[in-house]
Amino acid sequence: MDMRNLLKNIKLGDLAHDETEALYDILYELEIDHTLEDSKTLEFLADHYLKNPIISKKIEAIVISAQSGYNRHPKTHSTHGQNPPSSSYFESNSCKLFKNDSLISKLNRMKLLPLYKRMLSWEESLDTLRKQNGLHVQRMKENPLSKSDKIKYLMIICSDARMGGLFDYNDFRARGIHPVYVAGNISEVLASKKMWDVFSKLAPESAVVIVGHSHCGAVHCAKQSQAYSGHKNISKLIEHVNPESETENVKQQMEVISKNPGFISESKKKSIRILGAFANFDSHPPSFSLMSNQNIMRLDKALEKKLDFNFRQSNQGQDLSQKQYAHAVVINGSSVPSDSREIFSCCANEIFCVSASDFSNSKKLGAKSIASAEMALLDLLDEHAIASAEYSVNNNSTRHIALLHTDLSVINKWKSELMEKSEIIFQAVERGGLHISSMIYNDLTGEVFIIS
Ligand SMILES: [Zn+2]
Repeated sequence: MDMRNLLKNIKLGDLAHDETEALYDILYELEIDHTLEDSKTLEFLADHYLKNPIISKKIEAIVISAQSGYNRHPKTHSTHGQNPPSSSYFESNSCKLFKNDSLISKLNRMKLLPLYKRMLSWEESLDTLRKQNGLHVQRMKENPLSKSDKIKYLMIICSDARMGGLFDYNDFRARGIHPVYVAGNISEVLASKKMWDVFSKLAPESAVVIVGHSHCGAVHCAKQSQAYSGHKNISKLIEHVNPESETENVKQQMEVISKNPGFISESKKKSIRILGAFANFDSHPPSFSLMSNQNIMRLDKALEKKLDFNFRQSNQGQDLSQKQYAHAVVINGSSVPSDSREIFSCCANEIFCVSASDFSNSKKLGAKSIASAEMALLDLLDEHAIASAEYSVNNNSTRHIALLHTDLSVINKWKSELMEKSEIIFQAVERGGLHISSMIYNDLTGEVFIIS
């Protein structure tokens, strides 16, 4: 069979659902960096067909099926006299990875797969972020975010790269969600008086939600706090993390916020609630749920359902308990009315998200934000450190921090602060192992203007 010719003539859009799934299965195994569009022919699979006997069998099955019409093109006939494979072939071979996913999201996920497997250079990282910003700009065009909305849910979420995919664009607007990202989801981040501004933006009967997650690196580090005593910022941050377990940490952060004077004064006026939530990476797909609490209202259950749906859908097929990959640490200021994962259309394992502690227009990043970025860079948490370090050596790659704000002068101040207050970052930049990019966010169009 002249497979190259056959593959030239069969387009992705011609395939049936089962066949498409089987194709994804093949691509997933091969880890090919291919952009798949409906109109693209499958010719790129020819080389793999020729090289790998197992893959070639699978490709052959797809081609035979597509050629023979397989319940779709009754007028076309198989030219090689073989019967199309039974649907059980596809059932047994198709990857569970993309089941129940829409075609578009499947295609998007395929484009992202290479990112899970290797560390990008800072130029590649920048390019990826720039391209992925396009989707956000499009959404803004169709449905601009209104700036004056009050916060209905102030969510304190760990910076962990695996937390991606919780929100979709409308959640920020329709549900009034305002996420604050800090390692270990520590509510201590709102302890200073300068930060109390954020409480004044809370709507009546709103809630502060502490969002913890399984396999949390900050909890892991808190368990071994001695090992990190040499890192000034990190050790100060993990002082506020409960080392017992991730759920105990959420409870502790709820307790801390309940004693915060800024919170107490606002919550009396507006009856603001405190809720705990947990993202479970051990379930497949990962799940999101509120922790049982007497404060939960019907509205909160609707939120829980929505975020759980988002999280499951966008991370279908990923095993988040295993690895944490991210090609950039994005630090965004409170002047940016959306979160970085929305702005750069990211799911889990793409970027670490850190919020700057600049609610009071202090123009400062703050120690907790610096510590969160340091934790992401150090990869204290898993064996990913080894893989990315190896990649860095072999590919002359560097690490990447992106600073995102509406005002360049603030970004410049942040840069100086990072270099002055973080030895880890200073040394990495000096050695050429880390690049810091400046990105100005246009809050009217959603476009990110990259300075460097
Ligand atoms: Zn965490």
